[in-house]
Amino acid sequence: MLNIKLFPTDVPQRPMGYYAHIILLRETDSYSLFQTDGELNTAQVHAGCANAEIISRITMFKRKQTTPERLAGRELLRHYGFTSAEASDKDAKNKRTDERGVAVDGTGVPICDYNVDFCKQCPDCISYGFAIGDAGSEKSKVYSDTAYSLSRFDDSHEAFTLNAPYESGTMSRQGELTNRINEQDHVRPQTLFPSVITVRDLPAALFRYVLMNVLRTRRYGAQTTRTGTMTNHLIGIVLADGEIFSNLHFTQRLYDALKAGNHINDIEPIPVEVALTSARALVSELLAEEPVTPTQTLLGDDLLAFLNTLGGQMRDETTMRTLLQEAAEASRTYHARYVQKKGKK
Ligand SMILES: [Zn+2]
Repeated sequence: MLNIKLFPTDVPQRPMGYYAHIILLRETDSYSLFQTDGELNTAQVHAGCANAEIISRITMFKRKQTTPERLAGRELLRHYGFTSAEASDKDAKNKRTDERGVAVDGTGVPICDYNVDFCKQCPDCISYGFAIGDAGSEKSKVYSDTAYSLSRFDDSHEAFTLNAPYESGTMSRQGELTNRINEQDHVRPQTLFPSVITVRDLPAALFRYVLMNVLRTRRYGAQTTRTGTMTNHLIGIVLADGEIFSNLHFTQRLYDALKAGNHINDIEPIPVEVALTSARALVSELLAEEPVTPTQTLLGDDLLAFLNTLGGQMRDETTMRTLLQEAAEASRTYHARYVQKKGKK
């Protein structure tokens, strides 16, 4: 089980060196769009550490990973009544606030409006941070970095032409071709993105909140009705006194391991089960090379047992509410100690 004694009891005001890492292989389950301007983002990098060849990889920027996870958590907070469903009416003269000065709705539930008017006291605001111009900011305690596709760009994407035909089903009318043709690059299904999420100085309840968001989030990238789903395969949880390896290093070393096992074939997708098994074996090896002291590593069967328990709690409304309640208490404590005071001066 996860040793909660290894987490700080409260969110400290200054960095205290409590690092909890969530190690994942993200797998696309359908065609996904991670582009910013119509094209997929790519990077030229070494294929591996032992394979010095330069290849193009699809990149999934930080915000493309954390934003959907944040939003999944925020949805849950509203669902269970920890934050209000109402939008902020922040310029209203007689804004209703509670005794802490937090904007609330008619029933006294805090209103947290994403990127508009953050409540500064909910698990989302404290864990992922916020910035509200002059009205204060809170640094994110959830760090993620660009993730790189394990397979090369050429084998990981497909260009789709999205047609909007006329009612007759044809692309031309009276001899003129419609201009409603749009080509977009999609990431292929079963493309893997090794990634590490670092959670810094959060107590166990808020770490669990972040972890649950990762486990629950299914939709990443540009949203259409059916595409863009991903599965986050959890490989390990590592608690340590410092930060561990980067996404790129993890990707390159996993590439090396798979290449050595003859599993990289540039025509076929990398077999997911093989990649998962290799990644599990690789984590201990990589950790042994890091200049940090791990206080707990949850891998293999231990991780599975922990996930089964957490999964059971997440599937039950009462225990789910308790988990969120604990997270809410932790964020409120921090708000009362450090945020509320700052706002008063
Ligand atoms: Zn909030």
